[in-house]
Amino acid sequence: MGTATPRPLSEILTALAGKEGGDGELVTKAYEFAQKAHEGQRRYSGAPYFTHCAEVGFLLAEAGMDARAVAAGLLHDTIEDAGVKPATMEELFGKEVLTLVEGVTKLGTLRYRGMERHTESLRKLFAATAKDIRVLIIKLMDRLHNARTLQFVPKEEKRTRIALETLEIYAPIADRLGMSVAKQELEDAAFPYAYPKEYEKTRELLKERKNENEKRLEKTEHDLKRELGEAGLREFRTEARIKGLYSMFRKLERKHWDISNIYDILALRIIFPSVADCYSALGIIHGHWRPVPGKIKDYIAFPKPNGYQSIHTTVYTGDGGALEMQLRTEAMHREALYGIASHLTYKDSQQGAKSTRRSLEWIRQFFPGKSAAAIPAAEGAKAGVPEWVKDLAHTEMGADESEEYMDTLKTDFFSHRVFVFTPKGDVIDLPIAATPIDFAYAVHSDLGNKMSGARVNGKMVSLDTALRNGDMVEIITKPSAKPSRKWHDIAKTNMAKKHIRAALAHVEKDAEKARKR
Ligand code: MN
Repeated sequence: MGTATPRPLSEILTALAGKEGGDGELVTKAYEFAQKAHEGQRRYSGAPYFTHCAEVGFLLAEAGMDARAVAAGLLHDTIEDAGVKPATMEELFGKEVLTLVEGVTKLGTLRYRGMERHTESLRKLFAATAKDIRVLIIKLMDRLHNARTLQFVPKEEKRTRIALETLEIYAPIADRLGMSVAKQELEDAAFPYAYPKEYEKTRELLKERKNENEKRLEKTEHDLKRELGEAGLREFRTEARIKGLYSMFRKLERKHWDISNIYDILALRIIFPSVADCYSALGIIHGHWRPVPGKIKDYIAFPKPNGYQSIHTTVYTGDGGALEMQLRTEAMHREALYGIASHLTYKDSQQGAKSTRRSLEWIRQFFPGKSAAAIPAAEGAKAGVPEWVKDLAHTEMGADESEEYMDTLKTDFFSHRVFVFTPKGDVIDLPIAATPIDFAYAVHSDLGNKMSGARVNGKMVSLDTALRNGDMVEIITKPSAKPSRKWHDIAKTNMAKKHIRAALAHVEKDAEKARKR
């Protein structure tokens, strides 16, 4: 997909048209400005650099983002890579666009270093530092286009790093924001470069099944239209959903590579005008095909933690196989595809408004200590774990769902943690009020044991300084340095206290030995 020419402005404007805040003038200005700013610069593919920016702008418009976010998407690399001054950007496009671009630039400095211990921290930090949810979404689309053009990145090592980072950090964030299209595309673009062997194996397995599955889908779809029509349900549309290769691979791993145990390789989506239609259709479907026990899930009555709504059922198709059907309304469908992004501009139906509030509540836990104003349309949302999340604990869930529920619970920890950087840009995740002593021991016990001082954001600080989100912490060491009792009292983490006690015991033993000599 290394398109040689940038996507035309007209296509971005068309995608933007008719949405609240769809200011075409601002987007036109940003398009022309960014194109000029990146003039002469090229991508690895040889295409003009601006093809990347235009694509990011288009993806944002398509996901339903507002004009300012689309403009910021078009401009997102102009400060970092084209030397555009922040003051110039503010003057031309306003403070909001500048803030968005600066947020995206800041996120760009974070690196994934392939250490499992740091992965979850980095994800959380992304969420905590992206003060405006739109920053996170722009960054996701930036990464989506970079992942789609991974084949042009010259060094294999770099390709692998970007691919793993995409799978470990970006796709899970897209998932938590309910952006399933972005999630699947990120995963499938990165998969071949992150795990080449597994990718081939999955593709081969799926190829064997492809024809059989497609035939089953076609026949079932035909029968379904007839059955619904006979029952008087004529207003609906259908869509085939093909499971992404990476999510297929993950499921195959869980099912010991037995593909006959996977029923949702292909699913049939049926989209109705109203919720009542969905329930009527469920009755008609179960009247015609026998449902697979335990596979009926009503996410309309009990939405998933990320706001997803649909009714799922898997039915035996009479040819020895089974097929999953997903029943939903148009508003649910749009939300399922674009998640949080679709809430930022669409404010139509009652249903939409209700689910918006719900997923924003959830998003709030993702962004600790945020004012409601930073999340558009979040007025009236209360802080803390919402009742509906607690309710989910009492709902019957399958293995996949309960995993997801646990993930949601984990996000609650955000509000009790701070995220700080090493000088290399690694993220260390610590409890609130943690000190440089805790930081040093979290990095390595040797670093703690030889610590003589600390700098935070370039300034010397006392060792009892409470660290704050986003601080860059540098530990100064001296070979003669030793932990003390006082450090033990200052430290907040058990890990630091444990190491200090061990080091102190060691020192005392040495002193005793010296006395005996
Ligand atoms: Mn970029």
